[in-house]
Amino acid sequence: MGAGLSGLVAADLLTRAHLNVLVLEARDRVGGRTHSVRMPAETSAWTDLGGAWTRPHHTEARRLAEELGVARFAQYVEGDGLLDLGPRGVERLAEPSPMTGAARFYDGAQAMSHQLAARLPAGSIVLNAPATAIEVAADGVEVRVQRSIQACETFSARAVIVTLPPRLVAGTLNFQPDLSPQFRQTLLDMPTWMGHASKVFVRYREAFWRDQGLSGFALSGRGPLEEIHDVSSPDGQLVALFGFLSGGPYWRNQTLEQRQQAVIEQLVRLFGPQALTFLTYHEMDWVQEKYTSTAEDAAVPLADFQYGHQAFEEPAFGGRVFWAGTETSAVDGGMLEGAVRSGKRAAYLVQATLMD
Ligand SMILES: Cc1cc2nc3c(=O)[nH]c(=O)nc-3n(C[C@H](O)[C@H](O)[C@H](O)COP(=O)(O)OP(=O)(O)OC[C@H]3O[C@@H](n4cnc5c(N)ncnc54)[C@H](O)[C@@H]3O)c2cc1C
Repeated sequence: MGAGLSGLVAADLLTRAHLNVLVLEARDRVGGRTHSVRMPAETSAWTDLGGAWTRPHHTEARRLAEELGVARFAQYVEGDGLLDLGPRGVERLAEPSPMTGAARFYDGAQAMSHQLAARLPAGSIVLNAPATAIEVAADGVEVRVQRSIQACETFSARAVIVTLPPRLVAGTLNFQPDLSPQFRQTLLDMPTWMGHASKVFVRYREAFWRDQGLSGFALSGRGPLEEIHDVSSPDGQLVALFGFLSGGPYWRNQTLEQRQQAVIEQLVRLFGPQALTFLTYHEMDWVQEKYTSTAEDAAVPLADFQYGHQAFEEPAFGGRVFWAGTETSAVDGGMLEGAVRSGKRAAYLVQATLMD
């Protein structure tokens, strides 16, 4: 259940193990928290509104991308970063960029999901199919999908892999029999990684910051953007800075025009007057995405959360329900890497259980 990266990795492995697989996906597209768009629309420059980078230690995600022919390129890290923390003004950071070693994908991170989906047998993915309930019986499961008040469908299977973010599992799926109160609480306590994030993109004609010996990377305590990166495409079709909007309700409660003005003022403060002459301004707010975030996810998580839990490592409900999704991975939980690892783990557990 869920055609994000973890669900598609699991579906791919199980299909190759000769099991019949059906992936139910609530959205009208695959990829979940990866969503890559052409920017500008008429070019072949892809940019990521969701997950984007892998790091050298993300070995499973990188191996998968290579196998699927999804090529990556190194993040631009030449030059100094900037620190914008308040009274001391803007400072240059001469040390190597924290983005050294990070890479993005030419066709965007969603390309991995598209490639996995393309190699599944026709009809394996049902889009626009939001699951609302899982009923477990001795010999299998029934998954209810509610497309509208009138349109309810039931799908039967020997087992189901649930890949939704844990808070959505607890908050939107009705289990028969019910989840234990302790496990439900564990799920509710697990923030949806990046569920609070809003990405802002500002396109320019030229990467003028590079001419000033700046990498485009900046950390800011003043906002509105708290972390800024150069997301230009290597072929120069896209020249852009992107930043995460500071969390919390303040900026969300402003109008688009107010946010845009404040962002451009910040970029002028950091990168100089050339930042005033931008081409286009874009936003993607994941808090608004009901198939990713819950109301609790709008708040910025207080500390780095340790994802994964022993309960995800085992089949549930007598071997009828399995867990995947990046938050269920103890290794790189939250990342693309965690999604790939969790999908593989769930697929191997399903095989071991059903083929026993
Ligand atoms: C803004 C942002 C920036 C990020 N940056 C990075 C990065 O740079 N590097 C990195 O490694 N990771 C990053 N991530 C995280 C990365 O995108 C995720 O780890 C990964 O995409 C998660 O995949 P998943 O399959 O576990 O979950 P998801 O992609 O969330 O997949 C779950 C799927 O379930 C579907 N679904 C939800 N409810 C239902 C339902 N009721 N019935 C059926 N289907 C349902 C959803 O639509 C979705 O397709 C970022 C994420 C965001 C949002």
